[in-house]
Amino acid sequence: MRLLIVEDEERLAKALKKGLEMRGYAADWLSDSTKALNRMLMYRKEYDLIILDLMLPGMDGAILTEKVRQASVTTPIIILTARNETEHKVDLLNKGADDYIAKPFSFDELLARINTILRRPTVAEPVILRIEDVEMNTATHTVKRGSREIPLTLKEFALLECFMRQPNQVLTRENLFDNVWDFNALSGSNVLDVHMKNLRKKLDYETQDDQLFETVRGVGYRIAGAVY
Ligand code: CA
Repeated sequence: MRLLIVEDEERLAKALKKGLEMRGYAADWLSDSTKALNRMLMYRKEYDLIILDLMLPGMDGAILTEKVRQASVTTPIIILTARNETEHKVDLLNKGADDYIAKPFSFDELLARINTILRRPTVAEPVILRIEDVEMNTATHTVKRGSREIPLTLKEFALLECFMRQPNQVLTRENLFDNVWDFNALSGSNVLDVHMKNLRKKLDYETQDDQLFETVRGVGYRIAGAVY
């Protein structure tokens, strides 16, 4: 799941991006309304949801919403508004926003709205994921192989979670990028290889026959094994 945040308040935007990433979403942030409009039009298929601030310099969130809807962009939009007038809220919905939330709001409330729109349960699906002797707890962000606890970075955890949620399936490089990386990381770097290498080093034992990950040449990677 990839979200776009359009917000000119840097502190709020960074907090939102970090909070969303902690919960396994990829999030891009733009503060400029013209850039945001272009991104929303050009990369309409890239995003599952847009969080859009109402009060932006230049074009405001209502105008942006109207413009992208006129261009047939159907990505759900949640508007962050400091205004409380009912009249204005109705206007936002009429312009094509899916929901709005008044500032100040709690992150949990925003998350609940996001999950409602994306039809995801607010309490994440299975909290414990298992394959062979690997156990992942998505609530506490811990991973164990056998009795050995494995410290993972945020990206490594998100990467492993993709595999754990789709066991015995080959995940292509594109799948992994779409689910884990934000837009800036897409520009042809070898960042995926680096993270895969680190993840394998941390998870796999020394012996060849205990390797968790399989490389499927020219396609991607898979973890294979018994799920229980
Ligand atoms: Ca603002």
